[in-house]
Amino acid sequence: MRRQTIPHAFLFTGIAGVGKSRAAVEFAKACNCRKRRPSEGGTPAGGTPENGAIPCGSCGACRKIEAGVHPDILRLKPTRTFIRIDSIRSLQHTLSMRPYEARVRVVIVQEAQHMRPEAANAFLKLLEEPPPDTVLILIAERVSEVMPTVVSRCRRLHFNPIPQGQLAGLLVDEADVTTEQARTVAAFSGGSLSRSLELLAGGWFRLRDWLVDEFERLPQMPVGRIMALGERLSADRRRFEEALDVLVSWLRDLMIVGDYPEGVVHRDQQSRLRRQAALWPLADLSAGIRAVRRAQTDLRANVGPRLIAETLLLQLVPRQDGRKTLG
Ligand SMILES: [Zn+2]
Repeated sequence: MRRQTIPHAFLFTGIAGVGKSRAAVEFAKACNCRKRRPSEGGTPAGGTPENGAIPCGSCGACRKIEAGVHPDILRLKPTRTFIRIDSIRSLQHTLSMRPYEARVRVVIVQEAQHMRPEAANAFLKLLEEPPPDTVLILIAERVSEVMPTVVSRCRRLHFNPIPQGQLAGLLVDEADVTTEQARTVAAFSGGSLSRSLELLAGGWFRLRDWLVDEFERLPQMPVGRIMALGERLSADRRRFEEALDVLVSWLRDLMIVGDYPEGVVHRDQQSRLRRQAALWPLADLSAGIRAVRRAQTDLRANVGPRLIAETLLLQLVPRQDGRKTLG
């Protein structure tokens, strides 16, 4: 934008919740803002609105785009599972006409990997003969999921996960959590803001605390209770998947908390981690992680969730004298 050479198509990639859509919207604003400022660090030409890149956020164009009501900022996303050919045809039709008011029309395609082949081929035509004053922004998690012919015609931009400290700061501002809790969720989410917020809204700490309590009681549990726990754990498939992720991260933390406490995910549980870690031989922890990984694979292969849960729990139970002999 500073050089005033804007590619006609971008492909933004990166895990969910790291700001790809946000960046696309900001870019659309920057393209159309009437009062944009030069970016921090200045510009070669000294910073006139023409070579600036920061949208003002308050002019008419900025406000319409932010509110999602600008007629020339078009958004496309899958209806149910796929982006269909009809949607691309109607987009082609819209783009064949002049923009209403935008200097640069911007098309934001969410989940671009979910285009049916015929839709992708129609989209390819747009990329091959780009409409004037129009920027197409495709958003996907992974490059490998998008048709190579589409990828090759886009300028690629990869978004990294948000650094944990920074994400934790955002969470403290946006959600009702302590710093330690924010850092825990930031680490668990792998650096995704939307995933972190989703976990918090879904009662992630309640699930985690319950799971860790049960895990701690496992050595003393009669088999009947273990079976009941398996049933409860696997009752809701999504919750079960989440619980397995928690379990892997907990076992991993138990492995490292002694030597590398600053690297643990469950930062708010340091003392508990240390206490449990003292009871677990390292070999059993890695066997435990393998058992959970196996459960995750089985779940994806559509083995019955309840059977998976029971098998896993029995594998995690110590066989003699409170010592574990996992295989
Ligand atoms: Zn503006």
